[in-house]
Amino acid sequence: MSLLISRSRHVTVVGAGAIGVACALYLRRAGWNVLLLDKDAPASGASSGNAGSISTGSVVPVAVPGLALQVPGWLIDPKSPLSVRWAYLPRAVPWLLRLLLAGNEKAAHRSASVIAPLTLGALDAWSALLSPADQHKYLRVNGQLLVSRSVEMGKGDRFSLDLRRKNGVNVQEIGAEDIRRLEPGLSKDYQWGLYVPDSGHLTNPKAAIEALFNYFLAEGGEFQKIEVSGLIRDNNGSVVAITTNDTELEVGQVVFAAGAYSGRFAALIGDRIPLDTERGYNVTIPRPGVELNRPTSDIERRYFATSMSTGLRIAGTVEIAGLNAAPRYERAEMLLKHGCEMLPELDTANAEFWMGRRPSIPDSIPVIGRSARAENAWYAFGHGHIGVTTAPTTGRLLSELVSDLPRHISPDPYTPSRFC
Ligand SMILES: Cc1cc2nc3c(=O)[nH]c(=O)nc-3n(C[C@H](O)[C@H](O)[C@H](O)COP(=O)(O)OP(=O)(O)OC[C@H]3O[C@@H](n4cnc5c(N)ncnc54)[C@H](O)[C@@H]3O)c2cc1C
Repeated sequence: MSLLISRSRHVTVVGAGAIGVACALYLRRAGWNVLLLDKDAPASGASSGNAGSISTGSVVPVAVPGLALQVPGWLIDPKSPLSVRWAYLPRAVPWLLRLLLAGNEKAAHRSASVIAPLTLGALDAWSALLSPADQHKYLRVNGQLLVSRSVEMGKGDRFSLDLRRKNGVNVQEIGAEDIRRLEPGLSKDYQWGLYVPDSGHLTNPKAAIEALFNYFLAEGGEFQKIEVSGLIRDNNGSVVAITTNDTELEVGQVVFAAGAYSGRFAALIGDRIPLDTERGYNVTIPRPGVELNRPTSDIERRYFATSMSTGLRIAGTVEIAGLNAAPRYERAEMLLKHGCEMLPELDTANAEFWMGRRPSIPDSIPVIGRSARAENAWYAFGHGHIGVTTAPTTGRLLSELVSDLPRHISPDPYTPSRFC
């Protein structure tokens, strides 16, 4: 079967996570006829189970100086924030090497400076998209807290703090007393921390993205639940259609925003983009008996705990295992144990576990822009640990690029052609 769609002012967006939905909504508002596709319901992938933090201050890339020295210790410690499935290691090696190479001082400074335009305005960007009623329901602006058991910051923490400050993040160094005042439920073990007041969170990330999706439908956007399996290109390299098992869908412009699954589409077009997945886990406890006022991260163990309308969520860890390996919920059980140490009053009854796939680029800089090889194909993926934070800004920028409108931030650092 072949479904013909007028190619003028028509955009097909593949992937209805935070990024795809934000792109689709902005494109619709720019006057395009938009068809949004997903193999599942909107906000079912990584965008559903994250920590919900609108981390305006998350300008620090994953790869920072000292990372390479930490990795061996992490790999032999089952409680560490990183695990690698050995069967996947051979496939992951090129990506991991790029990650380690990106961990020098100069590269980390550069990454932070180009991540900042995506994160610093994130609260305003979310406020601009959510209706006043949905802001009231889903958006909280109570800051973010990062806490440590050490009495003073380590060298790596100093570097990260400097990166934040250099890039315009308002961040305050605080001691045990202030930690207790901000979050009385936290363990007394925490001795110092960083407080980022101009940060926020979503009380239910999945529902907030579904709200954006509902605006998109109400404003004339179309959605189909379809798994895209391939694409057809013409002699000039342009994508003329995307394919599913039994259908060809003709496209005008096409945006690939399929999160961790996007690499396959880029490869079919001929763009070699180093995308892999850092899988993460969460545990959500419906009636935890304790509440946090803001997303709170344990600096050493690298997870976030966030109070949400669905309960307390503890989310984090990185597992390098590719797209297809079955979840190992021991990682989520470990998060639950960490949570009990962070919050001594935590009632863990009816805890539910989840795994999701972060779409990650080694230098932590997402890919937003036109394919280097197909003039009507666009990419919006690779947002790693900050895709919920940066979705509205990404959607707006992508729509400006496709529509050839003035750009509100420079698109140059995110261009897919940087890998050519
Ligand atoms: C544990 C954890 C905690 C996190 N915490 C935070 C946080 O606090 N703050 C923050 O900003 N970010 C956080 N993140 C990161 C954030 O969740 C991701 O960066 C973001 O969700 C990525 O969004 P996306 O739309 O690119 O991908 P996804 O949400 O994964 O969406 C991709 C969509 O593409 C669809 N798709 C894939 N292949 C196909 C196909 N062939 N055909 C059709 N559809 C397809 C999928 O079904 C999916 O719906 C966290 C991530 C994890 C795992």
